[in-house]
Amino acid sequence: MRETEERTTRKRGGHGLLIALVIFVWLAFTAAAILFVDGRTVRFYIYGDEDMTVEYGSTFQDPGVYAVTSGRLFGETEKHLPVQTLGAVDTNKLGTYTLRYMARFAFTDFSTERRVTVVDTTPPVIELKHIEGYVPTWMSGYTEEGYSAIDAVDGDLTDRVESVKLDDRVRYTVTDSAGNTASVERLLPDASYQTPVIRLLGEEHLVMDAGLWYEDAGAELTDKLGTDLSDKLVVEGGVIPWIAGDYQITYSITNDFGETISATRTISVLPVALPEEVTPTEKTIYLTFDDGPGPYTQRLLDVLDRYGAKATFFVTDQDPRYIDLIGKAYKAGHSIGVHTMSHDYYKIYASELAFFEDFFTMEEIIKQQTGEYTRLFRFPGGSSNTISRFNEGIMSRLTRAMNDMGYQFYDWNVYSGDAGETSKTEQIAKNIKEGCAEHRVSVVLQHDIKDYSVAAVESVLQWGLNNGYSFKALQLDSPTAHHGVNN
Ligand code: ZN
Repeated sequence: MRETEERTTRKRGGHGLLIALVIFVWLAFTAAAILFVDGRTVRFYIYGDEDMTVEYGSTFQDPGVYAVTSGRLFGETEKHLPVQTLGAVDTNKLGTYTLRYMARFAFTDFSTERRVTVVDTTPPVIELKHIEGYVPTWMSGYTEEGYSAIDAVDGDLTDRVESVKLDDRVRYTVTDSAGNTASVERLLPDASYQTPVIRLLGEEHLVMDAGLWYEDAGAELTDKLGTDLSDKLVVEGGVIPWIAGDYQITYSITNDFGETISATRTISVLPVALPEEVTPTEKTIYLTFDDGPGPYTQRLLDVLDRYGAKATFFVTDQDPRYIDLIGKAYKAGHSIGVHTMSHDYYKIYASELAFFEDFFTMEEIIKQQTGEYTRLFRFPGGSSNTISRFNEGIMSRLTRAMNDMGYQFYDWNVYSGDAGETSKTEQIAKNIKEGCAEHRVSVVLQHDIKDYSVAAVESVLQWGLNNGYSFKALQLDSPTAHHGVNN
């Protein structure tokens, strides 16, 4: 070097430029050789991951890279090379983006890459609306107060929300197009809509004797908010209190969405026991007189009294002037039974209630007269009458009802013929005697409002007593001489 410098110095001028050129070429060659041997290249260092995932809509900050030269012989330089970044990440669009980092060294471009994937892992947001002061009820159920669902990627998903009503809450679920599911629940306030219970007033199983009246004690219903729904209860079923049997009364209510609740009461109507019929062993005639008392009843009582005979009066209130004779007959040891108050077939056989109304009014009159109710009675026209056919089946229903309520009805097996067939006393007496002669125990039908019939009694009494019959008043266990029911 020194020598060359000296020479250069010495031969400055024409040779100087050449020497400089030679030196330059030599230096360049040497540098290239060193580069080649050293294997000098560019090394990139990537901050963060080579493959990055970022959330949709977030702000993406490129962590960047740095580049240095690096070689086998001389290692890395400390000085960073300038790096240019190509490409960009749009976090408002799902997808995978590539960022290319470039650095230039020795007239050569070096580069490396990073992949950034924009993903959606955020579920939609469901927002529940609440109407101020709204409280659901069992009757109307829960009425949806409203909701909305917004997803960062899909936008408004309100239409895709599924709501399910559970026992005490509503669950709302929605899934976005990336498969992210949101679920929220609405607790219904105070569980106020919960199914209330119908409360039966009185017994659930009621046992009663057959009778005229049954009044159900009813039922109550109050919902969980304390609202009284009792008057909205629907009552089904019922009781025919005069017919023995098991009945049901059901209280129910159906709310606006078809849910029904109910409570049922069972009512057992028991028949009132009647004593068993006892047929007298001795020859017996039960004289019975219908339709009185009337103008001839006193005369009849006198005749019976004279012979020590007892009879039965099925009484009416057709002639109130003689009503006192009911009490008089009773005190004389005769039996009193209800016949009817009005004796109006079309009235009393119009319905059970019409019959009962008439019957029990007569019962009250009898009670006033005798001090007690009677349980004996005779149907106007007898139990076999067909005049009642204007009301189909009424006799079947009435005979059963009256027996179930503990009343005994009596027909007859000997008919005097005094109700139109004859008005001759001798014929009536003959009819009775002939009839009684055919039976050991007779129940004779007469009417004490017919003077010609009353006039026949003495002859009958004499005949009967002479032929070993005793004349008795009907009791509750006496033979009933029932006819067959024809309606
Ligand atoms: Zn009659």
